[in-house]
Amino acid sequence: MDQKLQERIAQHPCYSEDAHHHYARMHVAVAPACNIQCNYCNRKYDCANESRPGVVSELLTPEEAAHKALVIAGKIPQMTVVGIAGPGDPLANPEKTFRTFELIADKAPDIKLCLSTNGLMLTEYIDRIKQLNIDHVTITLNTIDPEIGAQIYSWVHYKRKRYRGVEGAKILLEKQMEGLQALREADILCKVNSVMIPGINDQHLIEVNKMIRENGAFLHNIMPLISAPEHGTHFGLIGQRGPTPKEVKSVQDNCAGNMKMMRHCRQCRADAVGLLGEDRSQEFSKDKFLEMTPEYDL
Ligand code: SF4
Ligand code: SF4
Repeated sequence: MDQKLQERIAQHPCYSEDAHHHYARMHVAVAPACNIQCNYCNRKYDCANESRPGVVSELLTPEEAAHKALVIAGKIPQMTVVGIAGPGDPLANPEKTFRTFELIADKAPDIKLCLSTNGLMLTEYIDRIKQLNIDHVTITLNTIDPEIGAQIYSWVHYKRKRYRGVEGAKILLEKQMEGLQALREADILCKVNSVMIPGINDQHLIEVNKMIRENGAFLHNIMPLISAPEHGTHFGLIGQRGPTPKEVKSVQDNCAGNMKMMRHCRQCRADAVGLLGEDRSQEFSKDKFLEMTPEYDL
């Protein structure tokens, strides 16, 4: 890996396995709406694409989110990254998402900004993403085949119309592919998350891996579907089991010869705070952080 690239990921705990022991990240939950319906997602809870299913984060306004980020930047010096990953899709809530990033970038330009999306609206907002110096974007991309997509997504809402089945999946998959290419052209680092669903896309993930590699993704994070009933993920995939750790490792190993795989993902909450695998969100719940004075005035 060249030195410039190494510097870009050196303080991002998700992109660098080394960095995750030393640097912390936080998510702010400002984006409630979503523009697609993944069959494994119960919308009573946070987006299951980047976050831990079955968790409900405290929704914040952009001003509250920026206040929280600046409070935490003062209290946790290793906090290098602020991400928006839910509770819905950040780009289905563009005003809230970009306002939050603007407020943070204005007061604390050293903090890296990170965004996680299903990719449907990525090309529409790529200029805004570049303008704000958002250097890390995650797309959740579970398949490149619309027939498989129709089993994973029940609908896609695009340009004021709802599309179902293969038709909806086709639109989403095309937009994800264009989004991936747009990130590459803009030189923004891209991580791809794929939720592994046994019997649906598990064998197919090697093809997904090949496609994203050819289109410039930096890192592939294959995450197991979490299907325990207490996580609420039986929503549209009744009776669907999640993969065993052995099954996940086997697919990761099969892809690993081809590109960098993320193996330290902890499937954290949409309001996670701290090192990966550490949860300090309760220390900074809304009633607490609003009483704290931020490092910089908003
Ligand atoms: Fe749920 Fe996220 Fe899928 Fe939207 S993109 S349906 S919030 S898992
Ligand atoms: Fe890491 Fe994802 Fe959060 Fe970005 S959005 S900081 S990649 S966990």
